Amino acid sequence: MAALTDLTLADLAKAMAKKEASAVEVADAHLKKLDEHRALNAFITETPDKAREMAKASDARRAKGEAGLLEGVPLAIKDLFCTEGVQTTAGSHILEGFVPPYESTVTTNLWKAGAVMVGKTNLDEFAMGSSNMTSHFGGVENPWKRRGDNRKLVPGGSSGGSAAVVAAYMVPGSTGTDTGGSIRQPASFCGIVGLKPTYGRCSRWGVVAFASSLDQPGPFARTVEDSALLLQAMSGHDPKDSTSAPLPVPDFAAAARNSDIKGLRVGIPKEYRVDAVSAEIVALWDKGVEMMKAAGATIVEVSLPHTKYALPAYYIVAPAECSSNLARYDGVRYGLRVPGKDLIEMYQNTRGAGFGKEVRRRVMIGTYVLSAGYYDAYYKKAQQIRALIARDFKQAFEKCDVLLTPTAPTAAFAAGEKMDDPVTMYLNDMFTIPASMAGLPGISVPAGVDKDGLPLGLQIIGRAFDEETMLKAAAALEKDTFDCLLVDLDMPGLSGIDVIAKAKELCPDADAVVLTGKSSLETAIAALRHGAFDYLTKPCRLIEIESLLKRVAEKKQLKQRARALGGELDLEVLRLVAGEQRDPRTASRAAGVQRAGEPRRAFVNLGEREAAVARDDARVRRRARDRAGEEVGDLHRCRRQVMCEAAAIGPNFRTHLWILARTRTCEAFLRCPSRLSTTPTSR
Ligand code: GLN
Repeated sequence: MAALTDLTLADLAKAMAKKEASAVEVADAHLKKLDEHRALNAFITETPDKAREMAKASDARRAKGEAGLLEGVPLAIKDLFCTEGVQTTAGSHILEGFVPPYESTVTTNLWKAGAVMVGKTNLDEFAMGSSNMTSHFGGVENPWKRRGDNRKLVPGGSSGGSAAVVAAYMVPGSTGTDTGGSIRQPASFCGIVGLKPTYGRCSRWGVVAFASSLDQPGPFARTVEDSALLLQAMSGHDPKDSTSAPLPVPDFAAAARNSDIKGLRVGIPKEYRVDAVSAEIVALWDKGVEMMKAAGATIVEVSLPHTKYALPAYYIVAPAECSSNLARYDGVRYGLRVPGKDLIEMYQNTRGAGFGKEVRRRVMIGTYVLSAGYYDAYYKKAQQIRALIARDFKQAFEKCDVLLTPTAPTAAFAAGEKMDDPVTMYLNDMFTIPASMAGLPGISVPAGVDKDGLPLGLQIIGRAFDEETMLKAAAALEKDTFDCLLVDLDMPGLSGIDVIAKAKELCPDADAVVLTGKSSLETAIAALRHGAFDYLTKPCRLIEIESLLKRVAEKKQLKQRARALGGELDLEVLRLVAGEQRDPRTASRAAGVQRAGEPRRAFVNLGEREAAVARDDARVRRRARDRAGEEVGDLHRCRRQVMCEAAAIGPNFRTHLWILARTRTCEAFLRCPSRLSTTPTSR
């Protein structure tokens, strides 16, 4: 079995259900990761003792046959959710040392489902920000780095800690809150899935308030299915929150497992094509449109005419609400108190020392727009705009079922960049804020990488309380997101370098590359070292180098096993591609593709097993090691089949060894560089 920390939440739950691991073992494996990645500063408070205690209780429940949906699954909680007996700071000095005597509804629901808390994650102070740089407890580092550039990047915000811990495989899932984009934007920056539910789906009770009419808790995970599982456990009506929707909780996980979007109408809002968006983001968006089309969806252009007013209106509504919500932090009831000569001075001293710059800015803006004389000009106007924005969406959803947009206008930026101008920072949320203003659900799914190898997300926005359709569309996007180039290095008569050069020529913009082949490992490593793969994503390159290096050692053994199983497999491959056993269906498909004159589209849809190889070659190898010959044989059978299909595309199989495979999940290609930074060849 793969390392416990590498498993998705769903697989982890399955492994525990099958008794392959206990909750205590799972907790320990993840706590070890917390130790390894402490430098990311992703946690404000770690709770290892509590985690072990909860895990023990979980094992006991399972022994009694009382396992919940998330039984034994370790989670990290944004430090904005009140947790009984565990410090809750909201990333602010003013709440430092505050230990709530109660538990938020969302976390209560998670613990009821059997989940285990490993700690409270860092965030922008009171969730105000897009970079995690406004936290009193210091910034969080994104586990990703730009290719060839060692500068620290921000994880996005405000739920940056919660995104970073999932991206760095410290936990399979976490909670965040999204007021204007604080789940979706950090998910995009960290290459994971982030889901903001419909306003009212998850209770806000016990969540430190920022802007009450916008705040909404939601999950982070590495796959759409995992995010759905978390949402399912988090949601539900709560009489303690008057805005909580009295609706039953649908089977979100089932929706996420069904990626059939044939006939689904996907709206593309034309107003989101603004100048501030880079060509790269536009290209990613176009790619998303193509994928949805290929999966059977109908694409419709829709108009959301008030989009450009969403951001300015948000920056009136959100500060207005925050200025009243934060009035409660006065040095009397919670956390910090800085004495003064009288009550007023004590308030002033406490608030002056307790709040950071961004929070003070927002409280002042909020107080201003709510003050007599300005209320009508600003606050009321903003509320009117909000109504128009909601109406735009309502009209758009008459023509479509979901909307597809970019999540953020850029990839993650370096700590310190964009810091001097608040307006530039505010623009981060230009694509997420409109849905927030309308209370609609949105999900960010990793969809590609930028020129520096950094992850980029696409957003699906759904109708109110129709997370199910949104999840389905997100699952379809996830399935088809990554163009993965499968390169077989064992091409007779061609050196590994030639093979790679050819592959690069044929497919210059693949997102990830999986190298297969049992005989040219040294060549591959040399090629990688010489940068022949410079169009690859950095994480993939590192993974491949790492696994290839490992494999050099295992090569001999593998070869022996393969021989014992199938003899000279390569010879067989040659015979097959020579034509005798060509599958006529594949051949006609290939011919059609060729006629269309689009070599880039000439991908072969791989079957389940081959996709598994492409998806996680390393895992297959690991299993192969464990289960001796059997799996090695499988691996080779897959390769053979893949190569036959490639051969069917053209007469000369040597020039068609490249195959564009659409992989089911991007996960294998989205490993964090920091996890692999010990690899000798990392640069
Ligand atoms: N970045 C936005 C802001 O600073 C959104 C924050 C959030 O969603 N909590 O207000």
